[in-house]
Amino acid sequence: MEKFDIIIVGGGPAGMSAAAELSKNHSVLVLEKKVPGTTSATWYSYADRVDEHDLNDAVAFRSDHLHFVAPSYQHDMKDNCVVLDHNKVMRTWMDRAIENGATIQHECFKEYHKCEDGVEVITDKGSYRAKLLIDAMGRSKIVEQNKLVKRVDAWVIYGARIKVPSLERPTRIEYYPLNDDNNTYVGVHPYNEQETNFYIFKGQSNTFGNPADLKKQFEDVLQSEFPNAEILQPLSGCIHSGILKKYSLDNVIFWGAAGMLNPDGCGMGFNEILRQLKPFCAEITRTFKANRLDQKALHRVALSLRDIETMHFQRIIGAFSLYFIKSEGKWDGGVRWLNAMGDLSKYWMRNEMSLEWIRTATLKLHKAVPFKESIKMIPPNELLFITEQLIRFSFSAFAYNFKKIFLFWLPVSK
Ligand SMILES: Cc1cc2nc3c(=O)[nH]c(=O)nc-3n(C[C@H](O)[C@H](O)[C@H](O)COP(=O)(O)OP(=O)(O)OC[C@H]3O[C@@H](n4cnc5c(N)ncnc54)[C@H](O)[C@@H]3O)c2cc1C
Repeated sequence: MEKFDIIIVGGGPAGMSAAAELSKNHSVLVLEKKVPGTTSATWYSYADRVDEHDLNDAVAFRSDHLHFVAPSYQHDMKDNCVVLDHNKVMRTWMDRAIENGATIQHECFKEYHKCEDGVEVITDKGSYRAKLLIDAMGRSKIVEQNKLVKRVDAWVIYGARIKVPSLERPTRIEYYPLNDDNNTYVGVHPYNEQETNFYIFKGQSNTFGNPADLKKQFEDVLQSEFPNAEILQPLSGCIHSGILKKYSLDNVIFWGAAGMLNPDGCGMGFNEILRQLKPFCAEITRTFKANRLDQKALHRVALSLRDIETMHFQRIIGAFSLYFIKSEGKWDGGVRWLNAMGDLSKYWMRNEMSLEWIRTATLKLHKAVPFKESIKMIPPNELLFITEQLIRFSFSAFAYNFKKIFLFWLPVSK
């Protein structure tokens, strides 16, 4: 039976990018059930992240803003945005992995067993051994079988890369609402002169979501907006966010959408992979070399990608968007909320939120939302965190004042 240092199950952006990086230091096998080096998702990202990962050859379109259109408001999220040729990205990562000696197999993962010194992986075609299994299956069988999901939401997406001969080339990346009962939105990622990625999406709570449910609706929207469109490639998938009970098991770690890498209400799946890829792989190599592949050590690797304190605040900030969405006719409210954040909104989308950012954004949001309303918006499951913060704050204020009084009286008492 063939043995590897690392088996990566799932050759989507999470799995293939990790293969390109980890194969520099380890023997790697990638198992992908569809055609390796292809994907049915599409991405816009940012020029700096694309530079960092040397993906400029795969850029299809550049823009200096993202445009959100709503019935009464518009928001230009200023940033150096790029739309990537999604299949070229996948091929680039696959070629880099193969060049480093990785093996890529077109096989479907069935199950795995713990064995001495690692795991044995069973596929539809054979079995392999490795010290570490990286689960990058998107919607993961291992996560589901072990009932590891604590909470999950999904943006469910269905669409296509289309060719419209008479297309006036879309000049901007754009999101706008269909204003239907299902709260569906349209996403436009321009691609080249006559082609564009055109898709619809909607948010679903407490589910992994099923993109196929949107197929008929997409076909209707396409027919009414671009009756002459030729479908070049269907696009479908989800952006999952949520929390797992465990981000690792012994000799197994979850990565990408399988590991709910995308935090609640912001950032995006592919962008989060680009943001976290290098730290993730560096930590994996370090943990691997120390031969610490138990659940506890791998959990620490997973947690190092998540600033837990920031994520709590982020959920509270996310509730503000929900307030607008609930109170003001959906998308309109969301866009008004983005306007309240102004130029800070891009850091929310990039998921680059320091506590300082959160403080400033909260103050800006308070100006747009009455205080009484904002109190009501705090999600009940965050009350413990808020109480903790208040105690921490009160204690440090008390300690500060006590120090001042004590230092004031000290010379007198001498
Ligand atoms: C139309 C669309 C637009 C999007 N736009 C953006 C965007 O603008 N910016 C952004 O950041 N994100 C965007 N996303 C989200 C982004 O594509 C996902 O978050 C990202 O693909 C998640 O990557 P992943 O590798 O973790 O999972 P996936 O992409 O789901 O890949 C998982 C891989 O595992 C394979 N697999 C599953 N089960 C098995 C098995 N049993 N055996 C072997 N292989 C298996 C699958 O075939 C797949 O290739 C968009 C998604 C879609 C669909």
